[in-house]
Order: sequence, then C-alpha cells, then structure tokens
Amino acid sequence: MFEKILIANRGEIALRVHRACREMGIRTVAVHSEADADAMHVRLADESVCIGPPSSSASYLNIPSIIAAAEVTNADAIHPGYGFLSENAKFVDIVTAHDIKFIGPSADHIRLMGDKIAAKDTMKKAGVPCVPGSDGEVKTLEDAKRIAADIGYPVIIKASAGGGGRGMKVALNEDAISEAFSSARAESQLAFGDNAVYIEKYLATPRHIEIQILADGKGNVVHLGERDCSLQRRHQKALEETPSPALRPELRDQIGETVANAIREMGYEGVGTIEFLFENDEFYFIEMNTRLQVEHPVTEMVTGLDLVQEQIKVAAGHSLTITQDDVKFSGHSIECRITAEDPVTFAASPGPVLDFHAPGGLGVRVDSALYSGYNVPPYYDSLIAKLIVHGNSRQECLMRLDRALEEFVVGGIKTTLPLHRELIANEEFIKGDYNIHWLEKLLKDRG
Ligand code: ADP
Repeated sequence: MFEKILIANRGEIALRVHRACREMGIRTVAVHSEADADAMHVRLADESVCIGPPSSSASYLNIPSIIAAAEVTNADAIHPGYGFLSENAKFVDIVTAHDIKFIGPSADHIRLMGDKIAAKDTMKKAGVPCVPGSDGEVKTLEDAKRIAADIGYPVIIKASAGGGGRGMKVALNEDAISEAFSSARAESQLAFGDNAVYIEKYLATPRHIEIQILADGKGNVVHLGERDCSLQRRHQKALEETPSPALRPELRDQIGETVANAIREMGYEGVGTIEFLFENDEFYFIEMNTRLQVEHPVTEMVTGLDLVQEQIKVAAGHSLTITQDDVKFSGHSIECRITAEDPVTFAASPGPVLDFHAPGGLGVRVDSALYSGYNVPPYYDSLIAKLIVHGNSRQECLMRLDRALEEFVVGGIKTTLPLHRELIANEEFIKGDYNIHWLEKLLKDRG
C-alpha cells in the first residue's frame, strides 16, 4: 500500500480524499495556492506545499509545481480529485515518468474517453446504445445540413473535446444550423483549442442517468447502479439522487451489465462513470468520465462502499475483493450541491463565512471544507458544500433532507440553500416527475 499520497486538488474533494487516506493509515500531502493557505485540507494534511499564486493556471493546474511538491515530500502517489488535472492525459504521462502512481486510469484511457467522438465509437463497438447522430466528426456546413436532415431536427452540435457544458449548440431547424455549427466550432476552439464537432439528435425530454463502475484493470469490474442527475442548470448538475425515480430494477441490471462488459473489454482501471440520456425506457450513451465525480457520495450511501478507498486500493495494484453479487443497494440517497451564489440571480458570492453550522443526525452527511471564519476565495468553483442524505425510502429521504436543510446555517455569504428547500417542496419533484429541462423551466417561470 502507498505510504504517502499527494492530493492535487482543493475544497471539499481534497478533504474527502484526505479522510479516505487517514482511514487507511496513509499520510497526506496537501498542495495549495496562496489564496488557500488557510484551507481546511491544508490544516488537516500531514504536510503542505504552496504551489503558486491564486489563479488555477498558476497553481492547481501548474504541473511542474505539483511534481516538485511530490518529489520534495517523497509522495508515492497522486490523487487528482475531480476537475483540474483529473482528466489530463499529459499530466498522467508526466506523473508516471517520475515514478509516481497516478490514482486513476491510464493516460491512454483518459485520452480515448476525452475525445468524445472516439469514446462514442468505442462504446458503440462494445454494444453500448448511443444517441443517433453523425458517424464521427462533421467538417463542413454542407455535411452538417445533410446529416441533420437525415437524423431529423432538432439536433445538437457538440464539441469532441467538450466538457462543462461548453461547445454545445442546439439547432431547432435548418435555418438555425449554420449559426449553431459555426458557434459550436468557435466556442470549442476557444475553450479547448480544438474545433472538431459532431452531431446528435437532440432528445426532447430525457433524464440524465449515469452508471458508476469500479474496475481493477485485471478483468474484475462491478457496476454500482445509477445516479439520476437530471436536475441541471446550464447543463450543470444541481441535485442528484439514487435510485432514479424513473428506472425499473431490470433496466438497471441490463444497462449495468452492458456497461461493465464494455469496461472489462477496455481493460480499464479505477472508477468511472458512463453517462446516458434516458427517454421512453431507452438509454443513449453521451460520454464517459474517467475520474471520481462530485456526486459519488449518493452511490456510497446506498452501497456502503467507500469509492475513494476502492480507487486507492486498485491503484496500489490490489484486485477487487467484491463481485457483482456482493453489491447490494439499500434505501435512497439525495445530494444537494450548495454553492456560494445568489439563489435567485446565481451571481457569485465569495467572501467571509461569519457563521457555519452543518446539520447532523442519522443518515446525514456533509462534505464541505467550510468553517466559521473561512474566507471563500473568488478564484475557483463556487461549490462550497454537498449535503447528502440517506433514507430507507425516497419519502424518508425527502423528509430527512427537508429537516437537514432547515438546520444548515451558512452566514455572511449567499448560498443556494434556499433554492434546494424550494426544490424539494415542489410537487413534481416530490413525485419524481422531472427531466433535464425541468429546473431551467422552473427558474424561468418564477421570473
Ligand atoms: P459535458 O461534457 O459538457 O458535460 P455532456 O455530453 O455530458 O457534456 O452533456 C451535458 C448535458 O447536455 C446533458 O446532461 C444533457 O442535459 C445535455 N445534452 C447533451 N447531449 C444531448 C442530446 N443529444 N440531447 C439532449 N440533451 C443533450
């Protein structure tokens, strides 16, 4: 087993990884920007190294600084968390060249799945159902028009290198295709330095349902069920739950098995998430994320597995000790992403946290690096806390979430806590009757 792991991240996920390491008796190294000297993960880690000024590009994305920190502290592995360098194949190559273990899949698998056109092609060949669309890259407007007419409008033009909802444009009809095609390409070039795009049928009212997998790279793969992440604003997830209110158990077993087989065929190592759109009881693959996800705790709550510890064990060369039959799903779990934003306008709200009280009690988990007196810096992602609740049934989970949100106090800055209270009081949400457009519509209707 590793003796010391460097955590190449910040905020709640850095703390989450630190906690897993501690419970495994592994020492931790925190790296931080100048703006994060007082961060919780820095306080708790065994050692810490400042890796640069506040901006992400100069610190959490600064590969030479991170490698130097690992060398100086003699860390034998690096956990990348999510975001930042977690899906950067070049970083994995460099880490590996320095004889340090990257906790995650191989650089080749990251590269393959980071190229969405190649990812779709790989999944299709492995028998995973995909959204109908172009066969690979679409290079000219003429091709785009022909393919869109074939598939039928509306269509969505997507960047092959895309992520975070960027480089995606919907065309409702032929009049809109020219503008959508050129703006998706331009946005992708700007954001990712690559203008390759492809076309998909734009599904009208799907849910976003994703399957969690865990693999040891030695042929042992399990799927850990689904997460319903349909509550989104600007293609960004706001609240996630498992099981999905829309999925029948036999469909879960079927898609889980299909996905596990595809991952086994690839020889993949680590955790990963296969994302689907789900409409009329059919699954359509959209992309694979080759890292731990923000919403991984809901899966942990219903399976009792610690995904970060599993990741670390697999990275250290251990074989999976569980088989698919050992994976048991128990009860229901919901996660609320609480951000430092105005709950109505979504304007960022960094600054000093004057008061902080996290809810507790049976079935309540808070993953957050906040504390009273902490200053939320303006430079990074606005996620400040994840409230994750478990109940024996969805109804119990909702009641528990309601009281936990009521107990939660974050003073001094604005947060989306009031939005979450509103969401879980909504009749349609309570019925589980929502799709990927539902939250946007709710926000629009209330003006
Ligand atoms: P990113 O990597 O940028 O997050 P994804 O491919 O995962 O992009 O898509 C993000 C979200 O965009 C999906 O959850 C869904 O809401 C929407 N979306 C993507 N593809 C389609 C499609 N073919 N039809 C309808 N909505 C889509």
